[in-house]
Amino acid sequence: MHDVLIIGAGPAGLSAARWCDELGLDTLVLEQNEEVGGQLLAVHNPIENYLGVRAANGRELRDHFVEQTRDCDFDLWTNVELDSVDLKAKRVVLRSGEDLRSIAIIIATGLRRRQLGIPGEDEFVGRGIIESATRDRETLAGKDVCVIGGGDAAAENALLLAEVCPTVTLVHRGKKLRARREFTEQLHTSHCITVFPESVVHRIIGGDRVEAVEIERAGALKPFQMAVQGVIVRIGFAPNTELFRDQLKMDGQGYLAISALQETSVENVFAVGDVASPLAPTIIGAAGAGATAAKVVASRLRG
Ligand SMILES: Cc1cc2nc3c(=O)[nH]c(=O)nc-3n(C[C@H](O)[C@H](O)[C@H](O)COP(=O)(O)OP(=O)(O)OC[C@H]3O[C@@H](n4cnc5c(N)ncnc54)[C@H](O)[C@@H]3O)c2cc1C
Repeated sequence: MHDVLIIGAGPAGLSAARWCDELGLDTLVLEQNEEVGGQLLAVHNPIENYLGVRAANGRELRDHFVEQTRDCDFDLWTNVELDSVDLKAKRVVLRSGEDLRSIAIIIATGLRRRQLGIPGEDEFVGRGIIESATRDRETLAGKDVCVIGGGDAAAENALLLAEVCPTVTLVHRGKKLRARREFTEQLHTSHCITVFPESVVHRIIGGDRVEAVEIERAGALKPFQMAVQGVIVRIGFAPNTELFRDQLKMDGQGYLAISALQETSVENVFAVGDVASPLAPTIIGAAGAGATAAKVVASRLRG
């Protein structure tokens, strides 16, 4: 029996754990990955907007966070798989069999990149499908590539790839790009970027590596194959809330509904960070929310 179970060890979960420790709460943090840090591990650019410290990339900022929790007494279990969660009973059962109970639960499960769910998407990861143009674009230098998505991230990745690739085809569903004007203007003036609006990629095809994508364009009679050797998918993010479906109030996209004190619709269950922040996901916001939840939990438990 713990005072608090925290699910997720990104900035929000780590901040909540740091504060719970400071407030004398017996705390266990459960993280599904081998490493803590959440999305920070996917940030390859410098982070300049987290007040108090500059970092060359997300991993460096994560290391600062870990350093600041080193002397804390909370328990942290990584590589855990949650089997079931009963939020009303404050009970979490792990795949490995542990049956955990607590007085309060803080959900800090963040976001994951949305996937297309098409054939080839998992198969060719690292074999033509890259995770980040900032980090991996040299592996696609001199190759024809396809970027899937119509927002800022897709546009930014297309522009980065255009610096090293002969052709970049940006494929997106909408009539218009959602990316900010600064990016769309550059996309339309680039000599090697072609934009396919109202288009959908149905398959990523290849042998050992990516060789083509199958695209359906609005108005075309049938899908066609386009030869590419690289693909990057940037179609947004989804909240990690499947485990809590039918137990908590959430919006249509699965983001958790919370009060100003980070309370969810179930008593003594809190949600912090991106999982409850569809409009303003930030590191500093996640860390702040973690602190707020910990302080509210402490005041409730101590009376
Ligand atoms: C490329 C990129 C660049 C960014 N740049 C910036 C920036 O410059 N400035 C800024 O403020 N923000 C930036 N962000 C956003 C920022 O990283 C997020 O707002 C922040 O990481 C949110 O923290 P979080 O703890 O809420 O969620 P996350 O970072 O998503 O962490 C959630 C954690 O929960 C774990 N988890 C999920 N489900 C479970 C489960 N069932 N069981 C156990 N653990 C689970 C995950 O593995 C993860 O470790 C960027 C994001 C990306 C992807």
